[in-house]
Amino acid sequence: MALRLPGLDRLRDRYDVVIIGGGPAAFSAAIYARRFGMVTAVVADRIGGMLNEAGVVDDYLGLPDTPASKMVKLFYSHAKKYGVDVILDTVTRFRREGDHYVVETRRRRRTLARALIVAIGTRRRRLGVPGEDRFVGRGVSYCAVCDAPLYRGAEAVAVVGGGDSALEAALILSEYAKKVYLIHRRSEFRAQPYYIKQVRERPNVELVLNSVVVEIRGDDRVRSVVVRDVRSGELREIPVRGVFVEIGFEPFREWAVENGLEVDEEGFIKVNEWMETNLPGVFAAGDCTTMWKGFRQIVTAAAMGAVAAYSAYNYVVKVFGSTLEQR
Ligand SMILES: Cc1cc2nc3c(=O)[nH]c(=O)nc-3n(C[C@H](O)[C@H](O)[C@H](O)COP(=O)(O)OP(=O)(O)OC[C@H]3O[C@@H](n4cnc5c(N)ncnc54)[C@H](O)[C@@H]3O)c2cc1C
Repeated sequence: MALRLPGLDRLRDRYDVVIIGGGPAAFSAAIYARRFGMVTAVVADRIGGMLNEAGVVDDYLGLPDTPASKMVKLFYSHAKKYGVDVILDTVTRFRREGDHYVVETRRRRRTLARALIVAIGTRRRRLGVPGEDRFVGRGVSYCAVCDAPLYRGAEAVAVVGGGDSALEAALILSEYAKKVYLIHRRSEFRAQPYYIKQVRERPNVELVLNSVVVEIRGDDRVRSVVVRDVRSGELREIPVRGVFVEIGFEPFREWAVENGLEVDEEGFIKVNEWMETNLPGVFAAGDCTTMWKGFRQIVTAAAMGAVAAYSAYNYVVKVFGSTLEQR
């Protein structure tokens, strides 16, 4: 989704709080931070985060049936209304210097922050099978919302996965391709019943259960996917034009560890109920954290962002006496 954003900002020298990330957790944190009177920046490599890949959102309070792209614009303009600086960049690292954090970005910018909120979300897990890397952008996709229209009229495509996003992808693709194979390694889906019911009722979605992808084949682009039945070991080659990988998400473990954040065994940033991390003045929020791990939603990310901002404010007032704006 190409989002037009009016006026991205320049990074100032100093902030009360720098929020790293651009999804619902980050924007919610930003709005609350400004309401607490903190000079606030959001530094994000993508405005909207995972919402850029979602279709229509129908489970966020007060906004039924809302295109995710519209939600992103609403979040952004809400933050701008409060005077949040929004900077399009990637934070490469941060380190403690005295009582501040020095934040460094890929575009070689630098700023000082009294507190940090890490809201970096997660990234898509890959299959790790032969052909996957070779055909990325030539039939292998990780975003059904973005790429489904490219498969209008295609004979067949495959979706791999068994959670909400896989089933949502299968539903979206069934509107474009003549046939969708939904490949899942187990016999049951772990998606919400709402999606399972719709997928089962869709006549052009064929379920390929108890099966794992072992190879993606093609020439200049994807031509087929090879699956193995996990019970019989039998191999089956299914002709498809596209393979949509929807097997979940994993945290940015290396980034967190390199910046001194304590993570759990999977790599999620450890937080307590006030979104405090192991580092003083560094808070974390949203999908990147250990909080509510089995249930990742916009509303949960937004809630964590609000709590993180509250905690950051209390920290700034305790350590510095007041916010930069109140000086
Ligand atoms: C296809 C799909 C459909 C969905 N549908 C729904 C739905 O209908 N309802 C619902 O409630 N939820 C839905 N979700 C889940 C929801 O989108 C996520 O739970 C939510 O976006 C998490 O928010 P977040 O802010 O924690 O992380 P994210 O949204 O992942 O945002 C993290 C952001 O941080 C940025 N970032 C990462 N590292 C850095 C760095 N070093 N420097 C700067 N920026 C960085 C990323 O680019 C990204 O912009 C859906 C998800 C997907 C994939």
